[in-house]
Amino acid sequence: MSQAGERLALGCDLGATNLRVAVVDARGTVLSSVRRKLDDRTPSVVAEELAFGAKEALALLGKDLDAVSGLGVGVAGQVAGDSGIVLVGPNLGWTDVRFGALVERAFGRRPRVVNDLSAAAWGERSVGAARGASHVLLVFAGSGVGSGMILGGELYEGAGGIAGELGHVKVVPAGGRPCGCGQRGCLEAYVSGHNLAQRIRELAREGKARAIVRAAGGEPDRIGGPCLEQAAEEGDPEAIELRDEVAQLLGVAIANAVTILNPQKLILGGGVLAGMKGLKLRVREWILRAGGKAQVEQLSILDPALGDDSGVIGAGLLGLHAAR
Ligand SMILES: [Zn+2]
Repeated sequence: MSQAGERLALGCDLGATNLRVAVVDARGTVLSSVRRKLDDRTPSVVAEELAFGAKEALALLGKDLDAVSGLGVGVAGQVAGDSGIVLVGPNLGWTDVRFGALVERAFGRRPRVVNDLSAAAWGERSVGAARGASHVLLVFAGSGVGSGMILGGELYEGAGGIAGELGHVKVVPAGGRPCGCGQRGCLEAYVSGHNLAQRIRELAREGKARAIVRAAGGEPDRIGGPCLEQAAEEGDPEAIELRDEVAQLLGVAIANAVTILNPQKLILGGGVLAGMKGLKLRVREWILRAGGKAQVEQLSILDPALGDDSGVIGAGLLGLHAAR
């Protein structure tokens, strides 16, 4: 239980379809949380929703905004440093949105706005799987692919706040698949859940990938990572080949990041990896095989420990950190 006078934070996790707001104490404990569905992604409307959600979460504890010392928001997109500007939020349909200023208007106080995976990395590092580690790389492969980095005990966001865009490193240098970022050949274009499903549908239209489509019960809407995993586990050669290719692309990209950054802890998460155990195993093998020998020897590969809470906890604690 929180004690009177304890510093509390509001942590917000803004995804494409949902907004989650939690009241978090300085030890990273979630005291209350609410989820609001985003029907309208107009930035000012989302900022108002966030303010409503925060009031609801505080009301559950019998508190109001006066009890809050820090406010952090993790956004699925590129955030320009401390400016609060979301440069690109593909799943939200946002470009150059001054979201920090909108939240400040709705709330009456300035938030710390960061990339959602930076928030997740800070959460896992503060109270989760990488607790206490100074050098942490968190990689999530789900509806998008990205990473968050803690280097030397601090969140590393790069010169302009947009470091760690692992999903947009190039894995096919020429003639690659188009990516949501506008370029071609990005890792995300091969690995994200949406792109993986799209690719299987393209194969199906060419009369291929029959076992994968069968594993989806023949329903186009169910095509995706889990049916690829199922068909591969049942021994279908096409599914095995596709899963191996995805594992290699993702695993080698992560291995390269490990070679460069020399983290102590690597946290692997996200819906695609959570739903495809065989893929995850192979990604891990590629990291160990392709990473620098000494770097790999110093590395622990871990599952996230905070589940869906990593983003709200990390955002809240970053909000407190910024308010110090
Ligand atoms: Zn891209």
